[in-house]
Amino acid sequence: MSQPIASFRKVQEVLLAHGMYAKKHLGQNFIIDKNIIDKIADVAKLDQAMDVLEIGPGIGALTEVLCAQAKHVYAVEIDKVMVSILKDTCSACDNLTIFHEDFLKFDLNLIQSSNIMVCANLPYYVTSPILFKLFESQQDFKRIVVMVQKEVAARFKAKKDTKQYNALSIIAQACFEITEAFEISRHVFYPKPKVASSLLIFEPKDGVDIKTQQPLFDFIKQCFRFRRKTLANNLKDLVVDPSQIPSYLRQANLSETIRAQSCDLHDFTTLFKIINQNENED
Ligand code: SAM
Repeated sequence: MSQPIASFRKVQEVLLAHGMYAKKHLGQNFIIDKNIIDKIADVAKLDQAMDVLEIGPGIGALTEVLCAQAKHVYAVEIDKVMVSILKDTCSACDNLTIFHEDFLKFDLNLIQSSNIMVCANLPYYVTSPILFKLFESQQDFKRIVVMVQKEVAARFKAKKDTKQYNALSIIAQACFEITEAFEISRHVFYPKPKVASSLLIFEPKDGVDIKTQQPLFDFIKQCFRFRRKTLANNLKDLVVDPSQIPSYLRQANLSETIRAQSCDLHDFTTLFKIINQNENED
């Protein structure tokens, strides 16, 4: 690798050459420090037998290192201009497939791999939907290593009755062992974001079958739909007979005024079972 893409000079040079600027609405904050890229690659534990999915490759700062260390890299980028820049900056990478697509609409079945992980610096404006899509996908990701803003990282340690606690916290904690590898200063990006980031590692927990859990996860998401409303209120659209809601809550040992953010995975699992049992009896 001659001059790494991850440098302030290179980013400036590439953007200028394409008459391009970083698009804030697409969360374009490019890494300009090669040491950070190397630290991410270390944490990702890449090897020549592992394929990698990268979401939002941008101009390729991380992509070129992934290509050097992994078997094949599949990169999904929403911005057409970025895709043409990437084809240029990573032209030497013959193990790279680029998809010009919004990751949220991307069909993961297009990637055929039995040994694949995710490694990405995620666009901050769409982090949660991307993570939901990864967590709930049928792809057997061996590991998910992603850079997210610090406040999002806090969701994964969040306990009930805190501001950060939400459906993403519960689903992630149910399915993955989560580690915060290190914090990343906002100064290693161009342009500089307002806050620092964290590198998170999600490793699948043994024995969790996401496919069979999906109806429960959808239920949990709906329970958090209107955060300020009580759980009973959010349940109104989820049950056949809303007059039964107080009884369902009582059977689950939950108060009628409780909110979703005061319930844990066990509470949701119990309530979901009770609703299903009662409604399937009718
Ligand atoms: N990987 C590069 C880096 O680390 O320097 C760029 C990361 S930048 C934080 C996020 C990238 O995601 C941008 O290139 C942006 O265009 C792209 N992006 C934004 N929304 C996207 C989406 N919905 N699907 C795919 N890529 C997206």
